[in-house]
Amino acid sequence: MPHKTTNLIHSVPVDELTGSISVPIYQTATYVQEAPGVNKGFDYGRSNNPTRLALENIVAKLEGGSAAFAFATGLAAIDAVLKTLKTGDEIIAVDDIYGGAYRLFTHIYEKFGITIHYVDTTDADNIRDYISSKTKLVWLESPTNPTLKISDIKKITSIAHAKGALVVVDNTFASPVAQQPFKLGADIVIHSGTKYLGGHSDLVAGLVVVNTPELAEQIKFIQNASGGILGPQDCWLVIRGIETVTLRVERQCKTALQVAEFLQSCEEVENVYYPGLPSHKNHALAREQQNGLFGGVISFSLKEDTEEAAIAFVTSTQYFKLAESLGGVKSLVCHPAQMTHKSIPQEKRLQSGIANSLIRLSCGIEEAEDLIADITQAFEKIRKQETIEVFN
Ligand SMILES: *Cc1c(COP(=O)(O)O)cnc(C)c1O
Repeated sequence: MPHKTTNLIHSVPVDELTGSISVPIYQTATYVQEAPGVNKGFDYGRSNNPTRLALENIVAKLEGGSAAFAFATGLAAIDAVLKTLKTGDEIIAVDDIYGGAYRLFTHIYEKFGITIHYVDTTDADNIRDYISSKTKLVWLESPTNPTLKISDIKKITSIAHAKGALVVVDNTFASPVAQQPFKLGADIVIHSGTKYLGGHSDLVAGLVVVNTPELAEQIKFIQNASGGILGPQDCWLVIRGIETVTLRVERQCKTALQVAEFLQSCEEVENVYYPGLPSHKNHALAREQQNGLFGGVISFSLKEDTEEAAIAFVTSTQYFKLAESLGGVKSLVCHPAQMTHKSIPQEKRLQSGIANSLIRLSCGIEEAEDLIADITQAFEKIRKQETIEVFN
C-alpha cells in the first residue's frame, strides 16, 4: 500500500482523451446528445460536470467516504444536508458552532419547524439530555471555531446511532490530513473547501462527503434540485489545492504548536486555546483523534479583556493579515467577536467562551520564527503607543 500523500497525488486522474496530466476544465453548460436521452453520462451543467466529478471523487477518497458532492460554498454544503430534514425534526449541535451555521440553523431552518439544541459536546454524555426519536442529526465540529474545543466523535456516534440519529462532522478545522471522521463512525463529513482544501485563500467552495449509497442519492438529488453547485474553474482550483494539502497542513500544524507555546509565555496573554498544548482540556483525546496533528488555528485572550485591546493587536501585526477565513498559505488574524461571530448574540458568545478580547490566528506556511517575531513586534508596538498616551 503506498503512503497517503502518494495515494492522494495519484488519485488525481490523468485525462484519458489527451493524456493531460492536469484535470481538464470543462467550461460548458450542456452536452450534445446523439438522440434524446442518449449521452455520454453528462447532460446538463447543473446536474453533472467532469471537472466537478473529478474533484468529488478525489475528496471522497481523501475522506475515506463513498461519494462527495461539491457546492458553491461551505454553507451551501451545510444547507444541502439540512434539506434532508423535515418539519418536526430536531438537531443537536455543538454549542461553539461556526457562526454562519448558527445563522442558517436559527434564522432559516427554525422558521420551517426544525428545532436545534445547542449542547456542550465536549462531554459526550451531555447529548443524552436532548436526544430522542425526533433527533435526526448530531452536528459536530472538532476542533470548534474559535475556542478549539474537542469532542469525542467515536463516543458521540455510538450514543447517536443507538437512537437512530446520524452524525455530521464539519471537518473543516482538522482537515482530512489530521482527522477522518468516517473512521470514527460519522455518517456525513462537511468541508468548507475555502479553507485547507483550497489552501490559498483564492476561492470559496464546500463539500459534503457520505459513506452510504442512500445518503449519496439524497445529497445528489438535493445538489441538482437546489442547484448550489461549484463551477468548473473553482473545482479545478480546489483539485490543485488538494494536491499539496498534506504538505501544507503538516507544516501549518507544526508552526501552530510553536506559536501556541510562544503565546503561553507572553505576559499580555491570558488564555491560549490550542489542542496541541498539554494544558488543553481534551489534549489527550485530540492527540488520539487527530493523528497527533492539532491544526493551524490558535485562539488566545488578553489579560486586558476588552475589544479595544484585541483590535489594537489585530491591527498591529504585519505577516498575520487581518481577515476572516483560515487554512491558507498566508497567515491570518481575526477578532471573532467583531468579525466571524458577530451574528451570535453577545450573551451566547460569552457563554461559549468567546471573550471580548479573543483573537484567532491561522498559521500559514511562513517560518514559525518570523510569525513569532511578528507577534512580538505587535505587542511592543502596543506598549509604546500606551506609553505615548500616558505622557500626552
Ligand atoms: C468557513 C467555514 C464554514 C463555511 O464555509 P464557507 O465556504 O465560508 O461558506 C463552515 N464551517 C466551518 C467550520 C468553517 O470554518
